[in-house]
Amino acid sequence: NPGKSNYVPSKDAIWKSGEAVPYKALSETLKAIEGTSGRLEKTMILSNFLRSVCILSPDDLHICVYLCTNQVAPAYKGVELGVGETVVMKAVAEACGVNIKSQKAKMGTLGDLGLVAESSRTNQKMMFKPKPLTVKGVFDTFLQITAISGNQGQAQKISLIKKLLVSAQGSEARFITRSLLGKLRCGLADQTVLVSLGHATVLTPPGGSEDCAVSSSRMVSAKEEAAEVVKTSFCEFPNFEHIIKMIREHGVMKSAEFCKLTPGVPVKPMLAQPTKGISEVLTKFEGAVFTCEFKYDGERAQIQCAESGDISIFSRNQENNTSKYPDIISRIGSCLSEGTKSFMLDCEVVAWDVEKEQILPFQILTTRKRKDADIGEIKVKVCLFAFDLLYLNGESLIREPFRKRRELLHSAFKEVPGEFIFATARDCTDTEQIQEFLEESIKGQCEGLMVKTLDIDATYEIAKRSHNWLKVKKDYLEGCGDSLDLVVIGAFLGKGKRSGSYGGYLLACYDPDSEQYQAICKIGTGFTDEDLASHHAALSEHITPQAKPYYSYPESSAPEVWFEPALVWEVKCADMTISPIYTAAVGLVDQDKGISLRFPRFIRVREDKNAEEATSAEQVAELYNKQDNKQEQSKPKDHDD
Ligand code: ATP
Repeated sequence: NPGKSNYVPSKDAIWKSGEAVPYKALSETLKAIEGTSGRLEKTMILSNFLRSVCILSPDDLHICVYLCTNQVAPAYKGVELGVGETVVMKAVAEACGVNIKSQKAKMGTLGDLGLVAESSRTNQKMMFKPKPLTVKGVFDTFLQITAISGNQGQAQKISLIKKLLVSAQGSEARFITRSLLGKLRCGLADQTVLVSLGHATVLTPPGGSEDCAVSSSRMVSAKEEAAEVVKTSFCEFPNFEHIIKMIREHGVMKSAEFCKLTPGVPVKPMLAQPTKGISEVLTKFEGAVFTCEFKYDGERAQIQCAESGDISIFSRNQENNTSKYPDIISRIGSCLSEGTKSFMLDCEVVAWDVEKEQILPFQILTTRKRKDADIGEIKVKVCLFAFDLLYLNGESLIREPFRKRRELLHSAFKEVPGEFIFATARDCTDTEQIQEFLEESIKGQCEGLMVKTLDIDATYEIAKRSHNWLKVKKDYLEGCGDSLDLVVIGAFLGKGKRSGSYGGYLLACYDPDSEQYQAICKIGTGFTDEDLASHHAALSEHITPQAKPYYSYPESSAPEVWFEPALVWEVKCADMTISPIYTAAVGLVDQDKGISLRFPRFIRVREDKNAEEATSAEQVAELYNKQDNKQEQSKPKDHDD
């Protein structure tokens, strides 16, 4: 093995061919990964572990990969492992004999319930050594836990977790606890897992694969190639079980041929880069041929139809929204041209005023039932605005330029007024034309424009915030460019008119590198009385006794109530400033200072985003740098509004 790392597995983490992978081997690997900051070393440690799995217990490979990404099934199946902190604490109390009060006190010093569970287990005296846990055993218990629903299930969950913890040794308790809480907190990004899987399977083809291990002269390029293959496969078919099955059957290099776009399996959508205004579009797309489309303000939908005729609708987050839109399912057949059998369509679902034949505001759409809607009961009608086609009649189109995809979209579907319409588009070439079209879009109740390259650099980039799609929003023309999607991490109790609900909130962006939520501002404006009541109700489900160890915030802004990172709000502000107290994007624009928002106001709840999809620290820094007047502002202000 060419990889060098100081990590040496302990005796208990070594196993023989054909045996089940001991959970100890995985937990020690994760601990070693947590102990190093370098991405290359993390990759090496993980790929060495996966190589052992490939050679000794290939049947466990997909389970190990799932546990490294803290999942028990593909994300689009919606099986979530998150168990509430209280449930886990009760299980730790029963398994390790440490009451909840002491656990909370220990969390204050150790900073994380995983470490509390580990230290409590280590300090426990045991009459005999428990039977070692296996990766498969832990995974199966996790699956059982995810199948339990309702409050009555709490006791069952506690009993299953307790069983795991009673057998846990050393770092095992740490990672079992963290997995259950929904985050491994060892700095292992999904991309690192994909790269490690590529490296491992090309160097040590898992049992049954036809690949033979590569010669040392080709080692570096083969590893890079395999990592790219696995990343591409995961983009197009995000299901580890299937990918690993294909690697085992065909070898990693050929496996991507069998992990292509497939209707029924949703992919992450392509996203756009914000621009400050029209002139930036021309600078960015200098020399390129592009088109402008209306940017509709609704909910993104990936509508997929398999050869069998089964239709599914997925959200921007790959949630299955099929039962939310029975009206779309029933109409889609009448929008197809002859010969259109299977497809993956990218579009926006928009609330529609049938009488006035016009678009309704986004807020109206949010009043629709989220699941199991009854077609006869639907009050808010929707119209689909179609803008891209990823797949048609058995062929993937993602590598085709947008001009071709658009032609195919227009020939494979037909417009039905008020139900299915192609995004209004114009192939503009100069500022005046774009300005005129932007104004038309706003008159047409749209948010602004999406500007897209047509021929060169115009493929569909799954899961990317691509430079080939730019957005120009009407709001960019005033104040600070794009809005931000921020996580509500805390609240201040309301006074006067707001007593009984929260008066203000502490918001944070997310930094995937440090896995931290970094405070960016307090917010108290933009809320209606109804908003305040519904936020109070929604947030009360996420109260947590103290700040999470991965919250970074100034002591001077510590809120009275803390929340789990669960809700994401869209917020606009007058401008952004360097802040000596807030920690958002610290180190990215200024060595020691963060960035804060001035005069933030609440726009709406982003139900389609989870906390880790909030605006990232890097995006905060980019938005700050885009401001025209940032020079004047970079003098720190210590306001706190
Ligand atoms: P935003 O707040 O702007 O929606 P976002 O992060 O959700 O931000 P962006 O990449 O910024 O997503 O904007 C793209 C979104 O705009 C898409 O996800 C889609 O829902 C919507 N949209 C509306 N019209 C179009 C269009 N013509 N082409 C592409 N996306 C469109």
